[in-house]
Amino acid sequence: MFEFAFVIPFWLLALIAGASTGILWLLLGRFVRPGCCVGCGYDLRGSASNRCSECGREMTRQA
Ligand SMILES: [Zn+2]
Repeated sequence: MFEFAFVIPFWLLALIAGASTGILWLLLGRFVRPGCCVGCGYDLRGSASNRCSECGREMTRQA
């Protein structure tokens, strides 16, 4: 029974890989806020243009 501590189950590795991927995805998703440029994160809420004034990327506006 003692050896069990040294054997990492495959599902645990899959769980860790999945969790870290999910956390990374959430962090990256949080970086691009609504109303901000998806390319550089510049705040475009005050801008009337559909194009980012910082990097020139076209803006897809969300409600
Ligand atoms: Zn930009």
